[in-house]
Amino acid sequence: MISRKRVLVTGGAGFIGSHLCERLLAQGHQVLCVDNYFTGTRDNIAHLLSHPQFEAMRHDVTFPLYVEVDEIYNLACPASPVHYQFDPVQTTKTSISGALNMLGLAKRVKAKVLQASTSEVYGDPEVHPQTEDYRGSVNPLGPRACYDEGKRCAETLFFDYKRQHDVRIKVARIFNTYGPRMHPNDGRVVSNFIVQSLQGQPVTIYGEGTQTRSFCFVDDLVEGLMRLMDTPDEVTGPVNLGNPHEITVRELADRIIALCGEGASLEKRPLPQDDPTRRCPDISLAKRLLGWEPKVPLEDGLRRTVAYFDARLRQPATAD
Ligand code: NAD
Ligand code: UDP
Ligand code: UDP
Repeated sequence: MISRKRVLVTGGAGFIGSHLCERLLAQGHQVLCVDNYFTGTRDNIAHLLSHPQFEAMRHDVTFPLYVEVDEIYNLACPASPVHYQFDPVQTTKTSISGALNMLGLAKRVKAKVLQASTSEVYGDPEVHPQTEDYRGSVNPLGPRACYDEGKRCAETLFFDYKRQHDVRIKVARIFNTYGPRMHPNDGRVVSNFIVQSLQGQPVTIYGEGTQTRSFCFVDDLVEGLMRLMDTPDEVTGPVNLGNPHEITVRELADRIIALCGEGASLEKRPLPQDDPTRRCPDISLAKRLLGWEPKVPLEDGLRRTVAYFDARLRQPATAD
């Protein structure tokens, strides 16, 4: 039997966080969800609010937080380029002050703390596929830097808190993740293409669509995060978590249009500045340390995501 733990999930009302809260509750743990609802919504956790082991707190992680917990998953941070570039200074503050506060909390209560880092720490990578020892190629001055450098500095803080204060840390480098509860207006490629296809609008390809990404279904990702949290203290990461199946943006558009039906058209738009050309995780380390690899094929995951957006677009709009 699994012993009950008190688990803090920052960003718990977001896309990945809400799935994580659900899984932790299903395993019998107590979950404290902390979120400022910048990109997350109460709708995402509405089905959890009546659960006796679930508690939701409105709080911004750039401010100190005094609670008693055994484990912390630090997911609070806008994740899509549209959202993290909306208020770039707040994005950097969220990554850095948020990490500092969660590390200070972990130090005080002797909790384990897991940082949701990102493949963006590799920038526009010159090494392919990306392994954890690659140090990255980030433009520190560009429009993505608030996110990339914020996350890089958060990783630095994690490793310094381990070295200086012996805090038990875990760092996951998450690659593009998709699934139900993605925000329909977050501008990410999967949500954009599905919403556009379902609404009979042209599918917007940035650049030539030859750039690649590798998409991991959210259930697989959450499983990887939880396995990483459960590793012995000497395992700190960073560990890449993502699906190594790499496809071009153009191919993704074709797949989604085929699933949504009704011959949608394509529309070319300019490629955003600093948009990474290729991205694909090397997940050998995750396989070895966690016995983990993604199980959900792209076709199945996309089908489930299309079904989610289809149902959502038929609902009347809510305040969120
Ligand atoms: P999301 O935007 O759906 O979730 C982020 C959550 O954090 C939201 O609920 C938001 O309201 C909350 N938040 C933002 N700033 C906050 C603050 N200052 N205080 C408290 N809460 C705050 O994004 P997501 O896709 O669920 O991403 C979750 C985490 O995973 C993020 O840290 C992101 O950087 C990381 N990640 C995601 C992906 C991906 O493809 N989705 C890839 C790499 C890394
Ligand atoms: N902190 C927090 N919750 C706690 C303990 C600390 O939010 O339970 C914050 C604290 O306000 C500080 C940060 O975490 O801003 C780092 O804390 P630490 O004790 O490492 O540093 P110090 O307070 O000595 O600067
Ligand atoms: N993209 C696109 N059309 C869109 C949204 C995104 O062609 O409507 C491209 C974008 O330029 C990038 C890729 O899809 O090359 C993934 O973009 P996303 O914002 O989802 O994630 P990230 O760039 O952070 O990996």
